[in-house]
Amino acid sequence: MTGIELSEITASFGGERVLGPLSFAVTPGEQVALVGKSGAGKSTLMRLIYQQSNGGATLIPQDLGLVHALPVFHNVYMAQLNRHPTWYNVCTLVRPFQRERREIMPLLEQLGINEKQWAPVASLSGGQRQRVAIARALYRNSGMLLADEPVSALDGPMAHTVMALLQESYQTSIVALHDIELALRYSHRIIGIQDGRIALDEPSARLSEADILPLY
Ligand code: ADP
Repeated sequence: MTGIELSEITASFGGERVLGPLSFAVTPGEQVALVGKSGAGKSTLMRLIYQQSNGGATLIPQDLGLVHALPVFHNVYMAQLNRHPTWYNVCTLVRPFQRERREIMPLLEQLGINEKQWAPVASLSGGQRQRVAIARALYRNSGMLLADEPVSALDGPMAHTVMALLQESYQTSIVALHDIELALRYSHRIIGIQDGRIALDEPSARLSEADILPLY
């Protein structure tokens, strides 16, 4: 388990400051929800945290980062590319081994996309693609999780299923969410971002929807 400590970080685009300076630490075992309206700076913050983690984090970016020409299976397998020699990865590209098939299939089943296992990602809907990116993160299951709006394209029950799976797999996480109910239910701590600054930082158990709404 790893955490992260950020000290006086800032981000600018075209000379305009969009984030910071802000500081905070996430300790191992802490599950944090990042909330705030569109444009507040959540994605920018997420990217900075990922850069500072030096590969010690698993990222679900908002654009998902999938290889559209490859099947679902291979996109998920990619999470563990660096755990195998090159020859093994090349063989898997042509004909996956039983071992990985047995590991990946249950993940796809839990997410309701097992029937799409051999379909190229390009042929999937937005919600199905999002579930492929989630399966890839579950398969990696290493370090801290950084997820940027991971359930934005999923319906209610599936959003809850996914949040529960992520919470179970990753003891330490920072998840950007626009759904306040999900944020309150699946985190220990809520950090609210407003105009690139921290406007709220409290244990979730002490907050209600009414405390968070002013950020929007
Ligand atoms: P959020 O994730 O909370 O919606 P972002 O981090 O995406 O917010 O954006 C924060 C601010 O930075 C916004 O004002 C946005 O317009 C600006 N911004 C983000 N990415 C870029 C970029 N590549 N170029 C210019 N401005 C950007």
